[in-house]
Amino acid sequence: MVEASNTLKVFHYLSGYGRFVKAMTVNEWEEKVLNHIDKLRDELVKLCQDLIKIPSWDRKTRGEAEVAYCVGKTLATRGIQTEYFESHPNIENLVATWEVNKGKRILFNGHVDVVPPGEDWTVDPFAARIRDDRIYGRGAVDMKGGIACQAIAISALYDLEVPLMGTLILNAVGDEERQGKLGTMWCIDNIWEKINADAAIVAEPSGIGQLGFAVNIGEKGPIWVKVTTKGEKAHGSIPGAGKNAISMMLKLLQALLDDKPPTIPPPITREAIINQLAASLNIDPQLMNSFIHQGDEPNPISAGIEGLTTTTMNIGTITGGVAANVVPDRCETQIDFRILPGQQPHEMIDFIQAHAEQLGMSEICKIEIIESFTGNSIRNFEHNKFVTTVFNASNEIAGPSVHFLLPFATDGRLLRKAGIESTVAYGPGNMTFAHIADEYVPIDDLLKVTKVFAISTIRYLGLKK
Ligand SMILES: [Zn+2]
Repeated sequence: MVEASNTLKVFHYLSGYGRFVKAMTVNEWEEKVLNHIDKLRDELVKLCQDLIKIPSWDRKTRGEAEVAYCVGKTLATRGIQTEYFESHPNIENLVATWEVNKGKRILFNGHVDVVPPGEDWTVDPFAARIRDDRIYGRGAVDMKGGIACQAIAISALYDLEVPLMGTLILNAVGDEERQGKLGTMWCIDNIWEKINADAAIVAEPSGIGQLGFAVNIGEKGPIWVKVTTKGEKAHGSIPGAGKNAISMMLKLLQALLDDKPPTIPPPITREAIINQLAASLNIDPQLMNSFIHQGDEPNPISAGIEGLTTTTMNIGTITGGVAANVVPDRCETQIDFRILPGQQPHEMIDFIQAHAEQLGMSEICKIEIIESFTGNSIRNFEHNKFVTTVFNASNEIAGPSVHFLLPFATDGRLLRKAGIESTVAYGPGNMTFAHIADEYVPIDDLLKVTKVFAISTIRYLGLKK
């Protein structure tokens, strides 16, 4: 850091010939920052490895706090202000703040917890081994890689004393995988003034393989519903003497499947997604369309597009009955709806209720919400300055990029709801590698995303003249 800033002062002096100090242009700053991030490659890789090596899935350990300290140390050793806020005996939420000049504020949000490692790993999930320029381990993409990029992006800007017109904040939180009540939600409720910003990036993985990178402008809301049908027991040899709760449930579920849940126009249309993907692959949109519609069998791309543009329903569990020769008096199912921004949870309840009524089952059918989050997205995202800034930087640095709506929940929804509407989810690694065995992040992704974070920051905040 010292060496870099001295070099800068010499540069300022020489370029001004001792009399006029030539201010560096935005392009010159950007080039300098990109070069510096290349020099920080080893530190970036080591930080990502160090974070993975701390298991942070078990609330009974200090794992989540230790990861936050490790991120904070990277910034504090440089001189950036760090504070820790305890929301649980084992969770310390980190807030690192660098106020460069008065101006806009950008928040980098990342979660330090991970899901349990699970089975089927071919490598140690906490060894952070490097193979083929990829770092393997639980949390590599979701999302210790992303936090490492955020910390190094801020460090790179700080090392070079880039005269940004604003403030950078890094909030590394716990508890995201358990819905964020002790992490981002806690920070919003308790230390809002410290994290409130004009724009935010949640570093969830957003690589989509050959299709490039997705700048996620919002997310759908998961609504989990439990439906129970109540029948009457009888001997299995005389089924008519009872009321079969499973048979009734089957009728209801078939009606729901035939009708499909109510949906509304999505923030990004099907056509827009197809056009973007075609542009990413550099092929004709019509060709893309015909590829997606090939045959009657759903293919992964058409299923993915349906997930991004409509309300979906998955019947996840069904239980009932005690033995083959007993008419079951109870059957229970759990359904996962993913609603679009603008829809309300009760619409899914009304949907089930209406079918139950139609089948004459409203008396024996109980419907309960188990989990419910409304989705949200950035309104008019095509005209949002922050979205455009991140999107353009991603296109230039990371490769072909697209706008997406996430089908699953992130802490981004909490930040948008709290008032930081311009919140995007964007980070290194393929989004489908989260929560699986042999999770890995390519080192190249880490470098690219760190650069996108830093360049977006320069362009969004602007530089002091
Ligand atoms: Zn995550």
